[in-house]
Amino acid sequence: MIGLTGACVTDRNFSVAILSNPCNFPNVRFKPEKPSLFGETLESLSEAVTREGMPAFRAKQVMEWLYKKRVDSWDAMSNLPKDFRVWLDANYIIYPTNSLLDKRSDDVTQKFLLELEDKSLIETVLIRAPQTGVGQESSRKTVCVSIQVGCAYGCKFCASGLAGFKRNLMAAEVVSQLMHICKMEDAHTKRAKDEIASFDNIVFMGMGEPLANYDTLVQTVKILNAEWGLNFGARRITVSTSGLAPQIMKLAEEGVAVRLAISLHGATNEVRSQIMPINKKYPLEELIPAAQAFKDKHGRMLTLEFILIEDINDSLDQARELVKIARTLHAHVNCIPYNKVEGLEWKRPGIRRQDAFVDILRKAGVSVTIRREKGHDINAACGQLRLKTEKAMAEAEARPSSPFVDPNG
Ligand code: SAH
Ligand code: SF4
Repeated sequence: MIGLTGACVTDRNFSVAILSNPCNFPNVRFKPEKPSLFGETLESLSEAVTREGMPAFRAKQVMEWLYKKRVDSWDAMSNLPKDFRVWLDANYIIYPTNSLLDKRSDDVTQKFLLELEDKSLIETVLIRAPQTGVGQESSRKTVCVSIQVGCAYGCKFCASGLAGFKRNLMAAEVVSQLMHICKMEDAHTKRAKDEIASFDNIVFMGMGEPLANYDTLVQTVKILNAEWGLNFGARRITVSTSGLAPQIMKLAEEGVAVRLAISLHGATNEVRSQIMPINKKYPLEELIPAAQAFKDKHGRMLTLEFILIEDINDSLDQARELVKIARTLHAHVNCIPYNKVEGLEWKRPGIRRQDAFVDILRKAGVSVTIRREKGHDINAACGQLRLKTEKAMAEAEARPSSPFVDPNG
């Protein structure tokens, strides 16, 4: 491994060098003026409240206003004494994110572009899987959240890696992505009153590598799980990773029983290393036992994600190798036809080629799905909207009089 130090993480050429210490990326720390309440636990808020000489039950009331009633102003917290609200205002903010753009590309996918306090942009995507015979409101809803601004891992096919890594998100910035969705969905669904969250699944498949922002991931899951929080079960949360083997082992021991998806995308080291620099640090002989350890601990089926990229990983030999890995891990395979990213040369294979690949898996008895429907390509959604918007903003800045234009519009 090359021993470069002080490399610029926003330069993709250096991504392999930085991977020599993949969990120690130079993290540009952002310290907000005041923390957001969405990053607090009931315990931490109770401590702060009692330190001020106020009764601890006030913290519980605040959590109720945030997660059950979803208010976004201190004034709306009407059962709290005025001086307590003044104290809250002096010490916290509610939302650390501001919704810039809400773009419904079709009936299935809705993308949100959120601006953070330091003006960084992140994306959150809501995917509705319609169910036959029922209205859109009853469709199954999955929220795809981001956990970093950009990504340092530089996978060659991915839009999030393309613009490099800026910083880790804080737990509050992840939780607030979900609260934006809850608030929006509350307006046209009654289920929130019964189930608290207005969606069915959460996937960490947006921008960034969840296991490289480990503490935020664990803190976020705890807040989502908590009864005083969103009361959202870990089994409905999927964490997708490019394969940080030691962090997978650590997560297995953590006691947060999330589902795990591994971005495999290459069934041999040769192919995987070509498109995912992380594989040079943690090759398949390390990744597969780590995935196995996670599975043994939690007893749930793993998912192997496999993007099909023309002439890169879509050969029938790759399919046969993939069968071996899927069998070893008793894993489900999710094939995803590659989604074109502007500025990258990769292509999606034709339908017949995709079918031939999937057939090999199916005939070998592997549980496999292929995502083809328009709008279901959540992965492609993540990272691209931000990239396009930043480009458009930079261009607009160069022309001071030009108004901000939706880059997709
Ligand atoms: N960093 C994590 C999670 C974010 S990426 C990971 O790599 O797993 C979520 C998924 O989107 C990954 O499986 C990733 O490989 C996939 N993905 C990235 N770019 C894609 C593209 N252009 N088309 C299809 N899937 C893509
Ligand atoms: Fe990062 Fe995942 Fe994209 Fe790779 S696929 S660059 S790890 S977000």
